[in-house]
Amino acid sequence: MKKKILSAIMAVVLTASFCACGKSGNDDNTITMATNAEFPPYEYHDNNKIVGIDAEIAEAIANKLGYKLEIEDIAFDSIIPELSSKKADFGMAGMTVTEDRKKSVDFSDSYASARQSIIVPENSSISGPDDLKDKIVGVQTGTTGDLYVTDDLGDDHVERYNKGMEAVQALVQGKIDAVVIDNEPAKVFVSENKGLKILDTAYAEESYAIAVNKGNTELLDKINKALAELKEDGTIDKIIDKYITAE
Ligand code: GLN
Repeated sequence: MKKKILSAIMAVVLTASFCACGKSGNDDNTITMATNAEFPPYEYHDNNKIVGIDAEIAEAIANKLGYKLEIEDIAFDSIIPELSSKKADFGMAGMTVTEDRKKSVDFSDSYASARQSIIVPENSSISGPDDLKDKIVGVQTGTTGDLYVTDDLGDDHVERYNKGMEAVQALVQGKIDAVVIDNEPAKVFVSENKGLKILDTAYAEESYAIAVNKGNTELLDKINKALAELKEDGTIDKIIDKYITAE
């Protein structure tokens, strides 16, 4: 009798430890990252593969923790719901740490500093954030750029796009006056389109971190430990240097 109870407990313990490996019901040692692969140089498609700083850091973390990494490419504003519903284990998407997001997810230690930049046509009269007041500003839906600009200028002054590149294309076509977006993707988009520039004054300074479902301390601790080791041994710097050339 006692033995039976013990093996029943063991079975529960075993099942529970399997579930802790990855998304619920997944026992094949896979860890799933949710991202939006429209965000060079952090995550983007290259020959049917998702590459970039986040993809490589995630791969290094997964290796350290003994998981196989799976990357799920979804809309940016679906990443947090995907974590809440446990369909993905962590979100990594050049995601800015904000107080509001902390209500739904827990963030790892930061792995990169970032800023929201303003892109305008080369001949624009806009020279800083204060000049945006009566203008129409393009943003990527659900990003901090979207939240800040909507707060500061009001909904009527915001045009939302699913991809940052689409906002930049609208700017090239003269449909909007400026784009507010993260600085590194801004540099890539400006280099790929003629007649645009990034203003020297940033819209906001921020930092990126990895998000896990709120309360998933077990995974968060593992991620932070792996991140610390990868910072310490120079892997993170090496990955960032591979994708971002120093100015
Ligand atoms: N850093 C911005 C944010 O977290 C944008 C991220 C993105 O578009 N992938 O909202």
